Amino acid sequence: MAQTTPNHTQTVSGWAAHDSSGEITPFIFKRRENGINDVTIKILYCGICHTDLHQARNDWGITMYPVVPGHEITGVVTKVGSNVKTFSVGDRVGVGCLAATCLECDFCKESQENYCEDLQFTYNGIFWDGSITYGGYSKMLVADHRYVVRIPENLPMDAAAPLLCAGVTVFSPLRDHDLHKTPGKKIGVVGLGGLGHVAVKFGKAFGHHVTVISTSPSKEKEAKDHLGADDFIVSTDDQQMQKGKRSLDFILNTVSAKHCLGPLLELLKVNGTMVVVGAPDQPFTLPSFPMIFGKRAVKGSVIGGMDETREMMELCGKHNITCDIELTSPDKINQALDRVAKNDVRYRFVIDIANAPAATVDDDQICSNL
Ligand code: NAP
Ligand code: ZN
Repeated sequence: MAQTTPNHTQTVSGWAAHDSSGEITPFIFKRRENGINDVTIKILYCGICHTDLHQARNDWGITMYPVVPGHEITGVVTKVGSNVKTFSVGDRVGVGCLAATCLECDFCKESQENYCEDLQFTYNGIFWDGSITYGGYSKMLVADHRYVVRIPENLPMDAAAPLLCAGVTVFSPLRDHDLHKTPGKKIGVVGLGGLGHVAVKFGKAFGHHVTVISTSPSKEKEAKDHLGADDFIVSTDDQQMQKGKRSLDFILNTVSAKHCLGPLLELLKVNGTMVVVGAPDQPFTLPSFPMIFGKRAVKGSVIGGMDETREMMELCGKHNITCDIELTSPDKINQALDRVAKNDVRYRFVIDIANAPAATVDDDQICSNL
C-alpha cells in the first residue's frame, strides 16, 4: 500500500512496480500541493535509467514498493510557489535524481548536494514531510525549485531528458578531474550504454582521445562512426586488451553488472585513475597487483551537484549535445526494461509521457493505493 501523508491531495496518474518482479502497471497516487518553494511540472518525457531496473526489481534490496521510477524528467512548469523567483509558468525544465538534501552541510553549501548525508532521491526516497517520493513515470511532479534546472531552448525535450541523470553522472567525474578544460588526454569509457554513450560525447567535446571498452563487438562501428570514439577495445578479447595496456590516463567505468576491475586497470598508465559510476548489485573483483604495480587509483562518483547539473546543461546547449534515444510509451515500459536488462538499447529509452493517455486502474485498486 502506498505511504502518503494526509496533506497530499493532488491525484496523479503514473506507472509503478509493486514487487520484485519489477513489472510496471498503471498506478494512481497522491502528490503534495505546490508549496512556497515548489514548482509543479507537467511531465513530457522521462528516461529509463538502468537504476530504474535495479530499483524496480529490488536488485539492491532497498526498494520501497510501490515504486514509481524515473529520474530523467523533462517537462513544463505549470505552477510556481511564492518564494520561487527563478522559474515561471511555461518554462522548460528538468529534474534529475535529487528531491531533497539537508541544505545546511558543507556539501549542500558548496552545491555538492549529491554528497549530503541526508540526500533523498526523486523516487524511493523520503521527502522532508515524511512521504515516500515517486518519480517521473507519471504525468505530473511537484519539485522543490532548488533541484530543478532549465533546459536550453535548442535542446529537444525528449533527447535532453537522460542528461538529468546519465549526463551529469558522467560529467561530474570528468569535471572533477579537470577533464572539461584540459584537452588531449587519453580517456577510456567502459560500457557503452546510456551513461557510456554520453561520456563518449563529452570526452570528444572536451578534446580528448576516447577509447570505448565494451563487451559488445557489434557496437564498434557506431561508436566510431556516429559517436566519434577514436578507438574500441573488446574487453573479452585478450589480444586487444594486451595491446591496450598502459595506454589510458583516465577510465570511466559505467558497467551495470558484476565484473573484474583488474584487466581494465591494466589499461591505465602508471598513476592513472578509474572512476566507477556503475552500480552492480554484486561486488566487483579488485585484484591488488594492477593497482600496486601501476600506482593506480579506483574511485567512485554519484550523480552530480545542482550547479554542475546547470553547467552541464548549458554546455550541452552550447555544443548541441543530446542523448541517442528510442522513444517508447508507458504501456511498453516492461518491454523496454527487459531490453535494458538484455543490453539491447541504443542508447536510452525515453518514455513519451506527454502523448500518453492517463493511467487507468480498477476502482478497487485506487482505494487500496490511496
Ligand atoms: P545501461 O544503459 O544498461 O549500460 C550499461 C552497459 O554496461 C551496457 O551497455 C554494457 O556495455 C555494459 N554491460 C552490461 N552488462 C555487462 C556485463 N555483464 N559485463 C560487462 N559489461 C556489461 O546502463 P546505464 O543506465 O548506463 O547505467 C549503468 C550503471 O550505472 C547502472 O548500474 C546504474 O545503476 C548506474 N548508475 C550510477 C549512477 C551514479 O550516480 N553513480 C547514476 C546512474 C546510473 P557494453 O555492451 O559496451 O559492454
Ligand atoms: Zn539514473
